[in-house]
Amino acid sequence: MRTHEWVPLADVARISGLAPDKAEYRLRFLSNLKVVSRETIHYLGYQMDFEAYDILALSDLADRNVVASIGDRIGVGKESVVYEALGKGSNTLAIKFHREGRTSFKHVRRVREHLKDGSRCAWIHAARRAARYEFSVMTGLYPQVSIPRPVALSRHAIAMELIHGNQLNQVNLSNPNECLDIILDEVRAAYILGVIHADLSEYNVIVRGEEIKIIDWPQAIKIDHPNASELLERDLTNILRFFARKYKIDYSLKEALDKVGMKYEIEDRTKEKTAREVS
Ligand code: ADP
Ligand code: MN
Repeated sequence: MRTHEWVPLADVARISGLAPDKAEYRLRFLSNLKVVSRETIHYLGYQMDFEAYDILALSDLADRNVVASIGDRIGVGKESVVYEALGKGSNTLAIKFHREGRTSFKHVRRVREHLKDGSRCAWIHAARRAARYEFSVMTGLYPQVSIPRPVALSRHAIAMELIHGNQLNQVNLSNPNECLDIILDEVRAAYILGVIHADLSEYNVIVRGEEIKIIDWPQAIKIDHPNASELLERDLTNILRFFARKYKIDYSLKEALDKVGMKYEIEDRTKEKTAREVS
């Protein structure tokens, strides 16, 4: 996969340790199931897409006894597909399969990857990297920050606690002021651990009764990132704008920043001071 657009049958046989006729038999079977695609024009070769890669991750999670069975698809985002699953002892899980590096038009993507860096399967690496990073961020935040409990990582997939709730944009809160406070407290808790979400919005907050959980962390940054204050402001602005529009809550960015980021305030004061000294 790393070096060929279509992996020659001989390579599959060699790497898998299967006799070529056995390898061909199994690949044909997978190709009939549309798990892999087959090409015979230049030579006999195969390639796989995300669906096949999902199956590899899932079978690894099953081998490790993390997942016992998989259920319905519960979310499709720009860069992921999320399924419900049952874990050991029938605890419910969400499995997030990353989809970074994908474009809607398969062919264009493959051509582009080919031109860009010679790696025909940049999508695999992009998705794996994103999952690994998101999982590490989540393990660093849990349980101090209210997020789904991270359970396991495999390839481009993350198994985590399933949150039975609704996205913030889909509920009618009876206590919006309280809910906003809770969200800001969580942003602060992450900030104290050195992390800014950087894609926070009403779509990445799940409400369950009196609780909220913040999801979707692959683009999180450290607070020493050069754009940290800008991204924190953007996160807060998204949330404040949502509460202002839907619940007519008037909460200023300054107030929210004060609540979340003391370090920012200090930097802010330093900036003010320097400005005063200059003038
Ligand atoms: P994306 O980057 O694709 O938006 P998300 O992490 O936000 O990825 O997941 C997509 C959707 O899947 C979410 O909007 C949510 O509805 C659902 N989802 C994700 N994680 C969970 C979870 N742990 N429990 C329940 N639903 C989840
Ligand atoms: Mn999301």
